[in-house]
Amino acid sequence: MTNDTSFHSVSLENIPSEESDKIQMTERELGFAKIVFGLPVEGPFDYRVPEGLKSSVEIGKRVWVNFGKRRLVGFVVGFARESDCDDVKNIEAVIDEYPLLDDKMLELTKWISQRYLCSWGQAIASALPAGLRHGKTQMQTRSAAVEDYDLEDCDEKSPTAHQSRALDEITRAIDKKASEVFLLHGITGSGKTEVYLQAIKKAKGVGRSSIVLVPEIALTPQTAERFKSRFGNENVFVFHSKMLDSQRFLLWHKIRSQKTAIVVGARSAIFSPVKNLGLIVIDEEHENTYKQEDAPRYNTKDVAIERARLQGACVILGSATPSIESYYSAQKKEFKLLKLPERIQQRGLPLVSVVDMRQQKRSKQRPEIFSFALEQEIGNALQKKEQVMLFLNRRGFSTFVHCRKCGHVISCKSCSVTLTFHKQSGKLVCHYCNNKTEPPSICPKCQSSYMGYFGIGTQRIENEVSRLFPEARIARMDTDALSKRDAHQKILSSFKKQQIDILIGTQMIAKGLDFPNVTLVGVVSADVSLNLPDFRSAERTFNLLTQVGGRAGRGQLKGRVIVQTYSPDHYAIESAKHHDYDEFYKKEIENRKCTDFPPFTNIINVTVRAKKQEKAKDAILELKNLVDSAKTDSEVEILGPSPCIVEKMRGQYRWSMLLRSRKIDESVNLLKKGLSKFKKPSGVYVAVDVDPL
Ligand code: ADP
Ligand code: ZN
Ligand code: ZN
Repeated sequence: MTNDTSFHSVSLENIPSEESDKIQMTERELGFAKIVFGLPVEGPFDYRVPEGLKSSVEIGKRVWVNFGKRRLVGFVVGFARESDCDDVKNIEAVIDEYPLLDDKMLELTKWISQRYLCSWGQAIASALPAGLRHGKTQMQTRSAAVEDYDLEDCDEKSPTAHQSRALDEITRAIDKKASEVFLLHGITGSGKTEVYLQAIKKAKGVGRSSIVLVPEIALTPQTAERFKSRFGNENVFVFHSKMLDSQRFLLWHKIRSQKTAIVVGARSAIFSPVKNLGLIVIDEEHENTYKQEDAPRYNTKDVAIERARLQGACVILGSATPSIESYYSAQKKEFKLLKLPERIQQRGLPLVSVVDMRQQKRSKQRPEIFSFALEQEIGNALQKKEQVMLFLNRRGFSTFVHCRKCGHVISCKSCSVTLTFHKQSGKLVCHYCNNKTEPPSICPKCQSSYMGYFGIGTQRIENEVSRLFPEARIARMDTDALSKRDAHQKILSSFKKQQIDILIGTQMIAKGLDFPNVTLVGVVSADVSLNLPDFRSAERTFNLLTQVGGRAGRGQLKGRVIVQTYSPDHYAIESAKHHDYDEFYKKEIENRKCTDFPPFTNIINVTVRAKKQEKAKDAILELKNLVDSAKTDSEVEILGPSPCIVEKMRGQYRWSMLLRSRKIDESVNLLKKGLSKFKKPSGVYVAVDVDPL
């Protein structure tokens, strides 16, 4: 987690208006320059262009100026003949020889600022490598070791019938220079990457660049290497997560100088300064990592689609488990759906068995964590010298209350999300509407008294595995165990070399990894993700089960997946068992419609934090009132405020509320009105997250 940038200091007058839209972007009427900063202050601000700098100040360049008492890097976004301000300062110096941002990039960053409620300058800063934000022009490089992987990709494959069909559609759009969005829905191992490779080749053939985004580059080195081996080192530019700022800076300049380039990287690579953009690929489009967690909290998918629209490029969103929002867009024909329904060479999908933990509980002799079936299968795999991955869908940071006899989970009657148990107050709380109830001692559904508090961590699983299999070599991979920079890379490479028998982890280990000797995947508890206090909990569970399932039996050996759960009849688990996305989608989209959640509505999350609990609470109540009273005939609904799931973090209390509406613009405008009237007390911080995940 990083610092939230507060939005409160922005007043309504300063929010980009129709007026600033009229700033001339190309014409230079040297007199005054319009300048924005990478700070939560809106602008643009007027500065005088001194005689001596008239030939060098240009739109898209960085300049040094004084802002208040500070000397800051500013971005020139326009010119004006006159200024309304009395006290206009001079531009001190021009940093760049040529503009860093072209008009398309200025348009894109402006769109980001309006959509995600940040300043234009903040959006520009987030689109540039760190060094450039801070005014650097030249940087020293030190080399950082980037691990080499075996290049397994042969050459180009002759496409299957399904691949050909998909490629024909994409090629046609690239040829027409049409800006189309394709949703490539292909099960794991169906040849999606091969489609990306051949589409990129097509784009390159007609002189156009491609950007390939992957969820987390450190976890997908194999993917990046496949692009290099196909197109040659000199044509592929990879933003590794291990790169130093100085290396990113150099790579950015190098990409900028190419006529066509292929860029591979995580979400910020969407801003790569490629020329002649033709194609953007977003692999595993359903992943959370595409959402930026700090201001500006943009969603990379939407930014990609907007950039493609501005530049007449195509977008391919690829996934085995498309996000509900994307699939819905495909149903509405906003995206074109392309399907790869079969695995290459008819390799089978793993067999998924679901273990009903309610039955285990009744036999009373089992420890809580492993069922007989899972323990036995782990033993079998170890005996055959095959490898095992054990998986807890997510770190259990929230505790919920459920019945161990019938599996019933206590959830909010009005929001239909799981209630979270708060130790301090001893109450069950809804994190959407703040409804509070006493945890029941008797199950409201079956009247049994086996009510239990649920929360397992990966650490406990590790302890239990070492107790049951003292000989096995075990490693744990989660955010706690991975605080060291390169730790996960080391674990993965020892696992690949079969120096580890059992790998325990959170969803992190589900991503795109390919270990042929893994034959067993155990999902220790599907309930943890199924009962997250989040309207996406069913979707997350289905995705995770499908993704982890895809890790088993990648090689010649047959794969097996065991899922332990107290809710074996839940549709997310049933559909994952049958590998049936369409069946899952049908049920889930119905649910979203009934409960009024996205894609049928849009959500904005507003979080307020302060050292004192009362202060945070009072501030958000005040803000809520302001937003409420700004409502005229708009149909925006306000949920909460309520304390955040992790109420106290790094010494600060956090409260949040949700704005929900059918039209995103309505919520954005209403919130802007509320914020403009909000007199933020000192020590209170406000963070706005549009379309939160
Ligand atoms: P996905 O990205 O959907 O998981 P990949 O593109 O990685 O699938 O393909 C899975 C495997 O099948 C890879 O080893 C790939 O090289 C191979 N493959 C893909 N397309 C073909 C094809 N048309 N003919 C033969 N092998 C293929
Ligand atoms: Zn019950
Ligand atoms: Zn509620």
